[in-house]
This record gives sequence, structure tokens and C-alpha cells, in this order.
Amino acid sequence: MEASSISLLLAEDNAINLKVALCFLEKLGYPVDVAHNGREVLAAYDKQAYDVILLDIQMPEIDGLEVARRLRQKTGHKKQPWMIAMTAHAMNSDRSACFAAGINDYLQKPTRLEDLKGALLRAVRAVEVPAS
Ligand SMILES: [Mg+2]
Repeated sequence: MEASSISLLLAEDNAINLKVALCFLEKLGYPVDVAHNGREVLAAYDKQAYDVILLDIQMPEIDGLEVARRLRQKTGHKKQPWMIAMTAHAMNSDRSACFAAGINDYLQKPTRLEDLKGALLRAVRAVEVPAS
């Protein structure tokens, strides 16, 4: 699958992190929609079932973990998004909390271009061959 044919939603509340992530995604050739908080992610997903969601964990109102839990419940009957957490918290327990919430992959902040590239390639592969 071409990078450009993946539907991708980026959730990030911090303006600088958002700018950096958008710059990386443009370099890598992924078109992307943006959500600025958890509420916007849920609203955007209601309109379009994105293939992949890049999900900041530390967001106001509804944080990334709660967004992931709600999407996993909500999308039980339809296509599940591939979710990639982005967080500055790098403890094993943080990682476990992400996976327990239904998140598929994990990027440590500050996000590096090469790491983002790798995570998106894994996502593209997963979307091509959905896990049963
Ligand atoms: Mg944040």
C-alpha cells in the first residue's frame, strides 16, 4: 500500500510538537488530518474511520489512553484503527498502560524522523494485513 493511500489522523495538543510532526509527515509523504485534543479525535473518528492514528498521550480533557479505550469500545463492530502512542514517558509501566488501553505501537518524544518512519511502515503493513 502506498503511504499516500493510508488515512492518517494526528492528535497533538502542543503547537510546537504539532509543527514538527506535520513537517516529518510531509517529508515522509503521508497526508494527515489533525486533532488538537482527545475530544476532537473522537469527533473526527465518528466522521471517518481512519486507518492509523498518531496519538499524543498527554492531552487535556480526554487523554490519549482514554481516547484509545473509547475507540476500542466504539469500533468493536467496524474497522479498528492502528494506534501509535507518542509520549515523553518512557517507563515500562507507561508502555504497558498504552498496550492495555489498546494502543498498537509506541513512539518516545521527542519523536525522531527515523522512528516515526519505522512506526508508520509497521502501521502500513498492519493495515494491509489486518490481524484477526
Ligand atoms: Mg500533549
